[in-house]
Amino acid sequence: MTVKKLVAGNWKMHGLSADLEEIRAIAEGSYDYPAVDVALCVPAILVERAARAVPGFAIGGQDVHRAEKGAHTGCISARMLLDAGASLTIVGHSERRDAQRESDDEVKAKAEAALSCGLGVILCVGEELAVREAGEAVETVEAQLDASLPRTEAALARLPADLAIAYEPIWAIGTGKIPTVAEIGEMHAALRRKLAEAYGSPGERVPILYGGSVKPSNAGEIFAVPDVDGALVGGASLTAADFLPIVAAAAG
Ligand code: PEP
Repeated sequence: MTVKKLVAGNWKMHGLSADLEEIRAIAEGSYDYPAVDVALCVPAILVERAARAVPGFAIGGQDVHRAEKGAHTGCISARMLLDAGASLTIVGHSERRDAQRESDDEVKAKAEAALSCGLGVILCVGEELAVREAGEAVETVEAQLDASLPRTEAALARLPADLAIAYEPIWAIGTGKIPTVAEIGEMHAALRRKLAEAYGSPGERVPILYGGSVKPSNAGEIFAVPDVDGALVGGASLTAADFLPIVAAAAG
């Protein structure tokens, strides 16, 4: 089944007021590719200014708390992100799973909180290098996906439109290394089967993005892999000059 491609940028801890110009350039450039959904996930503190700078363009956050509100100093709820103008959020990025010790259960709860509040979700999964080298990547990531998928009724009602999965091998993030196209294809096919198993026919239409060192130079071959429905892009999303050629590659 063909799914509309989604190319999302993850700005991580990059972005100041001065960078709103770059966000404008990315948004305006992306309107040349209406066949591709494009989004930028920026630091929470920049969400409101970015959303005001590019009305109608999808601005996202990079994390949400699982609770609606409460005594969680320094945290941000899904409703806060939505209120600031975000339309989506990343959850379960490996940098958070690692540095903030986020478990699959935590990621699942965050995805459920975001979906039930009206945000779209990009849910990240991916294996460490040692797991890939041990030949256990597929079963490890399948299990991670299964344990991280949102399951509440409110979340399920938002499928397939508002959920995307990002397969991001941890060893490929920011390193310039990527799996072979055969390895990407094998993983995406396995994740597609898992999504169909978990969700039935909506699971066949949940986009599965690839993430990890996507650049203008390799985007075309990655997007040609079956079941690759787009990309989550870190470093190369910081400038329109790098990001827009990736969007163009997704447009085909
Ligand atoms: C990411 O962190 O989500 C990512 C894919 O980063 P990069 O593109 O820089 O590897």
